Amino acid sequence: MNHSNQPELHHAIKIDPDKCRACTHCLQVCPTEAIRIRNGKATIIPGRCVDCGECHRACPYQAFYVEQDDLSRIFDYKYRVALFPAVLVSQFPENISEEQIYGVLKQIGFTHICEVEQPISVLIDSIKDFAQNEYDNESPIISSFCPATVRLIQVKYPALTEHLVLRNAPHDLAAWYVRMRLAEEGIDPSDAGIFYITPCAAKIAAVKSPVGEKKSIVDGIINMSEIYNRVMSKATGANGAFHSCDCRNEISREGILWSLPEGEKAAFEGKSLSVDGMHNVIRILERLEDGELPDIDFLELRACEEGCAGGIMMTGNRFLTADRQHKRAKTFPKAQSFTGMEELAEKIRITPVQPRPMVHLDTNIEKAFEKMQKARSIMCHLPGIDCGACGAPSCLALAEDMVRHEARMTDCIYVQQLWQKEGKISADKAFRNLEKKWGANRFDVDCSKHGAKNDNGPGPMNEEDADLY
Ligand code: SF4
Ligand code: SF4
Repeated sequence: MNHSNQPELHHAIKIDPDKCRACTHCLQVCPTEAIRIRNGKATIIPGRCVDCGECHRACPYQAFYVEQDDLSRIFDYKYRVALFPAVLVSQFPENISEEQIYGVLKQIGFTHICEVEQPISVLIDSIKDFAQNEYDNESPIISSFCPATVRLIQVKYPALTEHLVLRNAPHDLAAWYVRMRLAEEGIDPSDAGIFYITPCAAKIAAVKSPVGEKKSIVDGIINMSEIYNRVMSKATGANGAFHSCDCRNEISREGILWSLPEGEKAAFEGKSLSVDGMHNVIRILERLEDGELPDIDFLELRACEEGCAGGIMMTGNRFLTADRQHKRAKTFPKAQSFTGMEELAEKIRITPVQPRPMVHLDTNIEKAFEKMQKARSIMCHLPGIDCGACGAPSCLALAEDMVRHEARMTDCIYVQQLWQKEGKISADKAFRNLEKKWGANRFDVDCSKHGAKNDNGPGPMNEEDADLY
């Protein structure tokens, strides 16, 4: 259980302790202060993590990874559906055609291919219906497309959960749509497995622990970086045995642009705002929480810069991916309203999203208040430098950890230094404390650390680092 007394959510971001060097880069970027350094390794507090992947981006040692389902799992099913968002296609260089990408997916073993945004007009109509007929608040409605921002709101801005659009994200809609199409082909639902190819960890977490519904209709998740590598190695290979695919007649301009900044906003009538990048999202949510965001009807939020083109499982450069996506969108027609989709529209309704506040010092309100006062008293004795040398991201986070009996005053190296000077603690004990926090060999000479003379560099570059094309 977490501090909000709700079952823990699934998390897709993991740490490989063997690679972690406790360098604190992750500590500094985590938007929910979910990371602590303990025993010389970074650890994640599950109740705070929103699977945004900022830590994954920041780590110079590739110690963070994203779990996924084994690709061979697709063969548990007679019919195997690859469900992917438009950014998959856009991240490839121009010399890789759509037919080649679809062809390699067929070579891998998928029998059916569906771009997530194919039935987007159903979602557009449904969001409009929500705004006009179900939402009766003066403040803006907030997009529920990006699961990292939905979880961020749940844990950091719990009062704002009531603004979230109560509709599933496009991958769930598309999965229901595929099931409907397969049924029309006479395929038994138990024979078909739907696998979502994801650009980020947040979508994995959302599939494994969906908000507003009990279980996702998606059967498995494949990381987009794995598919990228397979397409790059097979599409340019010598045999050229590509299959073409004719199931793209429902793709629309709006659908292709949906996951990029302004993609959703474009379909929404009224005054709306599009915000991408975690730090920008946080600033805008803070303004909204403080009542300083007037005259906005709709807020589109994307945790990643350039929306899903900047997802952590994307290999391509996000700006080039977004540019290709805009160009590709121009080659497809405008979205047409689907008829006879009432059943599908019903399937994408979700129940109200529940808050999961992270700063619960106690479930009893009186005790929580007392503990908060205690944390504030402790703060008087901490230097307020927020240096991270205690293994917590800020002095206040350390004070709150202490109130929860998860840290001690001597974790602060400055307090420890002072206590040593005052004779309250021996130099030997102080050093042992440091070793306990940062690891026994931490203070040995090590020329392989990042930036030291034997450093072999940051590891294999991805396309974004290298800016290849
Ligand atoms: S995924 Fe995001 S919220 Fe979770 S630990 Fe990493 S940076 Fe923090
Ligand atoms: S912007 Fe897209 S890729 Fe990034 S976390 Fe949100 S849904 Fe995932």
